[in-house]
Amino acid sequence: MTNLLYANDKTGAYPPSYYAATVDLPDPRPALRGEMRADVCIVGAGFTGLSAALHCAQAGLDVVVLDAQRAGFGASGRNGGQLGSGWRQEQSDLEAALGLDAARTLWDMSEEAKALTLRLIDTHAPAANFRPGIVNADWRARDVPHSHAEADRLTETYGYTRIEKLDRAAIRDIVKSDAYQGGTIDHGAGHIHPLAYALGLARAAEAAGARIFEGSAVHHIADGAPVKVQTDRGHVIADHVILATNGYSALTSKLRARVMPINNFISATAPLPDPTAVLGRDVAVADSKFVVNYFRMSEGRLLFGGGESYGYRFPRDIDAKVRAPMREVFPQIADIPFDYTWGGTLAITMERLPFFARLAPNVWTAAGFSGHGVALAGFSGKVMADAVQGTMGQFDLLANLPGRNFPGAGAFRGPLLALAMTWYATRDRIGL
Ligand SMILES: Cc1cc2nc3c(=O)[nH]c(=O)nc-3n(C[C@H](O)[C@H](O)[C@H](O)COP(=O)(O)OP(=O)(O)OC[C@H]3O[C@@H](n4cnc5c(N)ncnc54)[C@H](O)[C@@H]3O)c2cc1C
Repeated sequence: MTNLLYANDKTGAYPPSYYAATVDLPDPRPALRGEMRADVCIVGAGFTGLSAALHCAQAGLDVVVLDAQRAGFGASGRNGGQLGSGWRQEQSDLEAALGLDAARTLWDMSEEAKALTLRLIDTHAPAANFRPGIVNADWRARDVPHSHAEADRLTETYGYTRIEKLDRAAIRDIVKSDAYQGGTIDHGAGHIHPLAYALGLARAAEAAGARIFEGSAVHHIADGAPVKVQTDRGHVIADHVILATNGYSALTSKLRARVMPINNFISATAPLPDPTAVLGRDVAVADSKFVVNYFRMSEGRLLFGGGESYGYRFPRDIDAKVRAPMREVFPQIADIPFDYTWGGTLAITMERLPFFARLAPNVWTAAGFSGHGVALAGFSGKVMADAVQGTMGQFDLLANLPGRNFPGAGAFRGPLLALAMTWYATRDRIGL
């Protein structure tokens, strides 16, 4: 089977993204060699693993982090940077599926996740430069009453007053496109430089005492007390293991069945002659298409994300993949050159809620943030750090959320998913 860790990127290097070009990249850290002992061994140095490492180390635990590539190499260092409210599912869907009490608890947790992320950025990663405001843009007129009702629900049922309804004229004041019929703006959400946040977390975890090894792919975990975590050239003997491998999760069959990798793509344009002819305000935008278009401005460039692929490999022409939806939204810059284009691998679950599990008494995992991990992944790392120390409340709640395996978990899951997703994306295109 294709190993996504190496399928699409240069080994040991950050992808050639706008983000990698606009931060001070640290020197590579050494690979693990020989035997090492730790209270907690964390596999994966993205938001999830690095936040788990920081919180464990701050609690006085001896922590080793292993990443196959670099800290922040995965989705965390290359995403759309949208720090959204809530979960990937709307609160009305959560209420229908889980009941009002559970939906309220989840909403409160998601607010805690946002607040934690903002605190972490403030303390450890100011270069991530949080800017408030996410517009949710409806591309079909019939979506608008629904998103306005959802905004009312957030205010009336959840006491969330930071969301404002936008009619057609109001959205066009912000997003200079004929594509959108209305929507909402969430002033309590916002956007960040994701790689700066990941690198800040890594520095903070190390300052708190965690040891991070890069170029250290884990290929086997031997359960037991303690657990043995094996890489090519070394191993870690640990009391606890936290698996934070998200879209690259291939180490256990349970994770492979519940969490599905998908690829998504972003381009950064050349600086625009007049950025306000594209976006009237410094906010991020995500639209209501099944294959979501998401965009924002940075240093006068439009960062436009869109176009998924469900095979393991990135398409050969990623530029074309992103340019097609960008052209549809912003025909006025149809031919603007792209200075950076990159792809990334994220993970989804059937329910679009993350998968939390205790795979063995001392092996913990959280993955499958379904495109909503900028706030939730770091929070999940903290939830697992708490669980390792015996505070189980939030972990148990999340681990008990209902969830299903992907159909054909095994050989057919990729092709089946590709078929299903392509069908939904086609419905988008033909306006169903
Ligand atoms: C293009 C794109 C756009 C996105 N946009 C947004 C957005 O705007 N807002 C939002 O909320 N979410 C977004 N997401 C999702 C978000 O980025 C993720 O949910 C989040 O970063 C997941 O963090 P993580 O730490 O769990 O995983 P990752 O950041 O992917 O980290 C996993 C790490 O595990 C390592 N690893 C895997 N297997 C092994 C192994 N066997 N041994 C050692 N190391 C291993 C990898 O090298 C990697 O560094 C986007 C994702 C992508 C790809």
